[in-house]
Amino acid sequence: MCGVIGIIGPEHFQTRMPPAAPSIKTPALNTPALECYRGLLVLQHRGQDAAGIVSYDNATHMFAAEKDHGLVAQIFDQQRIDRLAGYMAIGHTRYATIGTDGANDIQPMMTGIPFGLAMAHNGNILNYFPLAQKLNKDFRRQLLTHNDLEVLIHYFAHYLTEKSGGIPDQSTFTFDNIKNAAGKVFDTMVGGYAVVSLIANEGLVAFRDPKGLRPLVIGARGNGDGSKTYCFASETIALTYLGYDYVRDVAPGEAVFVSKDGTLQSAVVREEEKPSPCMFEWVYFSGAEGAQGGKSVYAARLSLGIRLGLRAREAIMRGEIAPDVVMPVPDTSRPAAISVADALKLPYREGLIKNRYVQRSFILGTQEKREQAVELKLSPVRSEIEGKNIFLVDDSIVRGTTARKIVAMLKKYGAKSITLGITCPPHRHGCYYGIDFPDASKLLANGKSAEEIASWLGADKVIYLDNDDLRQAIGVHDMCMACLDGQYPTETEESAAFSAQRHTAGGKT
Ligand code: SF4
Repeated sequence: MCGVIGIIGPEHFQTRMPPAAPSIKTPALNTPALECYRGLLVLQHRGQDAAGIVSYDNATHMFAAEKDHGLVAQIFDQQRIDRLAGYMAIGHTRYATIGTDGANDIQPMMTGIPFGLAMAHNGNILNYFPLAQKLNKDFRRQLLTHNDLEVLIHYFAHYLTEKSGGIPDQSTFTFDNIKNAAGKVFDTMVGGYAVVSLIANEGLVAFRDPKGLRPLVIGARGNGDGSKTYCFASETIALTYLGYDYVRDVAPGEAVFVSKDGTLQSAVVREEEKPSPCMFEWVYFSGAEGAQGGKSVYAARLSLGIRLGLRAREAIMRGEIAPDVVMPVPDTSRPAAISVADALKLPYREGLIKNRYVQRSFILGTQEKREQAVELKLSPVRSEIEGKNIFLVDDSIVRGTTARKIVAMLKKYGAKSITLGITCPPHRHGCYYGIDFPDASKLLANGKSAEEIASWLGADKVIYLDNDDLRQAIGVHDMCMACLDGQYPTETEESAAFSAQRHTAGGKT
């Protein structure tokens, strides 16, 4: 899982901006690199390992790149932003699911051959390993990283030149080249990927895998002279923050091109019968204030809570639980917990206060780091815990690390009983599409009943939603729920091979 963003001018509008006008402290909204930086700040929750921005400068005909390990705000300062000149830029915030911690694996990446391309993506290319071998053997390309993006950028560049029978120049480079190249990428690459790419001296391309597994949205803002600046991002929250109007989601299998003169062209190049956007975007990953597939994330989480409230009421009626307070695991679960409290007519209380300066534990790289983060990030409120029968709402239990620690903490501070209500069905299968749990054996619910899960967590009871609850609450029927039901939307052969080999390429465990 990562966050991507791409912003394009057009050229005439950007070039007339005084170069020194915008700054991090007093931003002018029409500087692509600065906007990428600000957009990455609000997409930070999608990846905390590293971040980067690449711009294309029409004055020098050069790419400029600034990337590093760490959080977006730590990496970029005024000097680094000032070095990123140009009318178009792309940015990336990394959550490493493949590749190493080396600097070469930080996105965006660039190539100068057969012409200039810069690219960033969110997702996983499952057949990365055989494609990397083929690149090396058949095309004599020496890979310089362990990141699947490098394979993607090489293939896209190859397919772009292939269509026109050589290197496209100003007279031959058309949207047909891009449609052809994106279509061939869709035919070649198995997996989930949302891509933003700069083509030197041409414009910005965005495309999304044919299943629509990973999200990508388009925003636009009028420049006041009849032209528009476009923004592509993983989530609508980046558009809102930067003052863009949401136009629409990039469709699964669609390629969109904004040329340097500001013209937007788009086409669905590969249309699948059944799109498969990731259900986990609504449940956990996306910012609550945004929308995915045109559906409000916050509203989806409220609805998930209403359904969980119904399940909880049934358990109360059966005499299985007798909660006297509803409590969220902050922050993602808050809207659902509010709904549960409403449904049960019980008080909603904050018994755990989150330290906002500690990173999201799910996307930390190792088990040890995740366990430390839980201890550091949540502080108990004894007055709200002691002597209470708590109905604790969480969005999901994946490895169980966080939930087990939290249950132990609540018990230590005097909770009488704890029922864990989960707004997602049990995760029993790995995800290979960019959310980092490809190894099913590490999933808490794999092979365990709800009673066994409760016992392992130290809770009195665990209540899950089921798959129909999830579909109805989110309001989307066709979603990827492979980690819940094992129905993978792409070939599974590559999934198994990817899972086995990715660890040797430095993916997280
Ligand atoms: S397997 Fe699960 S987490 Fe992965 S893309 Fe599908 S729904 Fe999302």
